[in-house]
This record gives sequence, structure tokens and C-alpha cells, in this order.
Amino acid sequence: MDAKQLKQFLQTEGATLVGVGDVTKALSKEIVHLNRGIAIAVNRSLTKETVDQLVRLQTLTEGWLKANGHRSLSIPPDSDRRKDKLITKLYKLFCHKTAATCSGLGWIGKNGLIINEQYGSKLTWATVLTDAPLGPDKPYVSSRCGDCDLCVRHCPSGAVQGHLWSLRNPLREIVSYDKCRSLKSGRAALKGKPNCGFCVTVCPYSRNGAKK
Ligand code: SF4
Ligand code: SF4
Repeated sequence: MDAKQLKQFLQTEGATLVGVGDVTKALSKEIVHLNRGIAIAVNRSLTKETVDQLVRLQTLTEGWLKANGHRSLSIPPDSDRRKDKLITKLYKLFCHKTAATCSGLGWIGKNGLIINEQYGSKLTWATVLTDAPLGPDKPYVSSRCGDCDLCVRHCPSGAVQGHLWSLRNPLREIVSYDKCRSLKSGRAALKGKPNCGFCVTVCPYSRNGAKK
């Protein structure tokens, strides 16, 4: 099954990037039949409008797959932020970083975020899992951060550990999220913001910036 048609369709509808990954190894037994992960990204920061745009793209993807006789399961862009909802449990079963790396759209940077060669970490992601036998893209299996350590040096809480991500060692702690959270809770200037964001703004790959 040719993924090119689906990618072109979604890009016409506003997606910035679309990739297909073979996510077989990352699936828990509940969803093992859905072994293709369609990673969809838009070049915008995470706002309600961005979430709405990505959910619309997921709905279009589901419709396209259904019309071709296939099943799908959408993991919404903000599912990790929806407390006490069923979808929060889905996010624990599968996260967007896996689809993005498996579909060759980015690696996990030293800042713990998906880094895309062109857009850095200033993308917002959604995933659709499917049983459609779409031809997968070439995955990232290791980091391309290399010797860069800008996010390590500029993180004010010391949360960024400086480790290189690799598919062979996926559970290694790259960022101490406890340290990151405690910095936020101690600074009034960060009230209402998700975090300080220095590890994104200093990244050379992110300098093109996201649209607001
Ligand atoms: S958001 Fe700020 S405190 Fe948290 S890891 Fe990034 S630079 Fe460090
Ligand atoms: S700042 Fe450098 S080390 Fe950190 S994520 Fe970006 S490229 Fe990787």
C-alpha cells in the first residue's frame, strides 16, 4: 500500500510533515495489530487552535484509512495533558516520540524533545495508529545532536543530562523532569507557561521558529 497518496493528501490539508513508521516493537499487546504509526506534525506551538488543527487532520486520516478498509486509533496531540480521561491511558500505551522517530521525522535530542532537521523541536505532533500495510519510512535509530551541548549548558535547573538518545537504549533518562518542574514551580515569571523553554530556544535546529 502506497503511503505517498496519504502524505500528499494531508499536506494539502495543512500538515507540515507526515511520516509512516513501522512501530511493531513499541506496541503493547492491547494494540499490537496496529503496527503502522502515522506521525503528523504542524509547525505551530501547542495551543487550542493547533490541537484542533491536528485533530482535524487525524479525522481526515481515519476517514481515508476507513475508505480503504483499514482500522485506526488516533492518539491526540495533547493526550498527555488530559488528566483522568481514557485518552490519557492511550498515551501511556503509545507516545508521539515513537511514531516520529520510527517514521524518520526526528530523533530525541539531548533536550528530550523530538528534533526535526528542518524545524527543530518547534513542532506539535499527533499520531494515528493503523493496521494498513503502508510502506514505512527509514527510521532514526540514534541521535544527531553530536557534540552540541547548548541545551545542557543553558538549562537553569540542571535537568538536561547530556546523554545521546539511541533506539538501543530507549529508557535512559535524558531529562530529569522533576528538576524541570521544580524550577517552574519556584519562579513566578513562569506562571501560566508550560516551562522555561530555554532548551528549545537555544537549539540550533529550532532557530527557524514555529508560527504562533
Ligand atoms: S524547560 Fe527549562 S528547566 Fe526544563 S529542561 Fe528545558 S531548559 Fe531545563
Ligand atoms: S541544543 Fe544541541 S544538544 Fe540540545 S537538542 Fe539541540 S542539537 Fe541537541
